[in-house]
Amino acid sequence: THFGFKTVDKEQKEDLVKGVFSSVALSYDVMNDAMSMGVHRLWKSHFINRLDAGMRPGSDRPLDFLDVAGGTGDIAFGLLDHAEAKFGDIRSTMTVADINADMLREGEVRYGKTKYAKEPKQRVEFMVQNGEIMDKIPDNSKDVYTIAFGIRNFTNIQAGLNTAYRVLRPGGIFACLEFSQVENPLVDYIYQAYLFLMLPMMGQLIANDRDSYQYLVESIRKFPKQEEFKGMIEKAGFYVPDQGYENLTFGVAAIHIGVKL
Ligand code: SAM
Repeated sequence: THFGFKTVDKEQKEDLVKGVFSSVALSYDVMNDAMSMGVHRLWKSHFINRLDAGMRPGSDRPLDFLDVAGGTGDIAFGLLDHAEAKFGDIRSTMTVADINADMLREGEVRYGKTKYAKEPKQRVEFMVQNGEIMDKIPDNSKDVYTIAFGIRNFTNIQAGLNTAYRVLRPGGIFACLEFSQVENPLVDYIYQAYLFLMLPMMGQLIANDRDSYQYLVESIRKFPKQEEFKGMIEKAGFYVPDQGYENLTFGVAAIHIGVKL
């Protein structure tokens, strides 16, 4: 053990992650809202607006979106809504991929309640896929790859980024929204206290599942810092524009962008 946490090998981590998300699939939204005090919704809508993806007027080729670790479909439906509202795009397609069938099932149930389920030509599909491999997604087949609060759960993050590069077409965009590291020491002190003391307790009270939320805290703490993650995106082959990332709420979360040239 390391600081009281068991060190786990690759397969154990995969099983652990599956278990965590199966057990939180139903209480997922309630917990997210409670944990982030609703802020995750603001981050997600900022992420979608910032990406500003959709088929531009005058273009005749619909886009192929891929939302990885798409779980409940929040980002996927949000992206399609944005594309239609802003660009009148009603043709682009969306693939939602997640390693966990229970999370995907939640997404499909929600999909059934959206207007997309009533369209004559289905534009949304759900796929159980490990984001590190994605053997069902061909090379150079997607225009926009999004992943929100998913990649820190990957056993091999670099493999996930390399796969993102593989499946995108040249000109395609990689966009990631993920917990990150708070840079201001005072804010970080308060944030760490919140993570380590409050979160597991809230997990216990709201979902009766302290262990899963303890795991989430660990995964947040272990995720690479902004600059390091940016380096990994570049290592996968992406061009990273500007500063390379945008901090949200002091760096509690960050958006990273990469372009496949
Ligand atoms: N993107 C959604 C959102 O923002 O609400 C869901 C995020 S949820 C915290 C993390 C998701 O990552 C879970 O649905 C989990 O099953 C998925 N996940 C974990 N490891 C994965 C992997 N290797 N490949 C694909 N999905 C994975």
